[in-house]
Amino acid sequence: MNGTAENLNLVYTLEGKIYINLTNKCTNRCVFCIRNSSDIIEGKNLWLSNEKFSADDVISQFEHVLSENKTAKEVVFCGFGEPLIKFDMFCEVSAYIKKNYPDIKIRVNTNGQANLIHKKDIIPELSKHADAVSISLNGENKEVYNTVSQPADKENSYKAVKDFIKECVEKKINTTATVVSGCDKAPVNTEECKKIADSLGAAFRVREWLPKGY
Ligand code: SF4
Repeated sequence: MNGTAENLNLVYTLEGKIYINLTNKCTNRCVFCIRNSSDIIEGKNLWLSNEKFSADDVISQFEHVLSENKTAKEVVFCGFGEPLIKFDMFCEVSAYIKKNYPDIKIRVNTNGQANLIHKKDIIPELSKHADAVSISLNGENKEVYNTVSQPADKENSYKAVKDFIKECVEKKINTTATVVSGCDKAPVNTEECKKIADSLGAAFRVREWLPKGY
């Protein structure tokens, strides 16, 4: 393994699932984001002090964690940042898992802005690797979304997220739109968000905000 990657928590477990933490970078600054208050989830420091690691480093940690969690049936790409910012690395790692462990399901927790970030449609490629996506809707309209998620691109992000949800559904990825409730700083109308998720053909889930971060 690359010497700089040894001390980074690129792969960790939580409640029987294996999580992969590709980056600390994100195009949002959500008001409820755990990164605002802690570097640690369940005793694991997920803050990456550097990002000079490769897909092989991630795969090496994955193999080690899997060897200690042989019954794991799901891998979730989710950490302290937006995993699809590193789309090429995501594809490389998930292709490895699919090839070597075809029974393991792959889910991505994403802010849904990947097409905007990469300035191209990544969903056809994403659909080859991800069985499920969980996409943060977090707003019944652009104004609420911008208040809650504080995206870098305030003009285009909300529409991009809804388009992303719709296309993931069309590409037959198991797609769930999510909102966070219970955080005073995130006044989202969950009923209205559910109607939007329904209209896009996605499942809908309300995630209770937990100060400890998951
Ligand atoms: S999208 Fe996720 S990682 Fe990014 S700021 Fe929001 S909660 Fe944090």
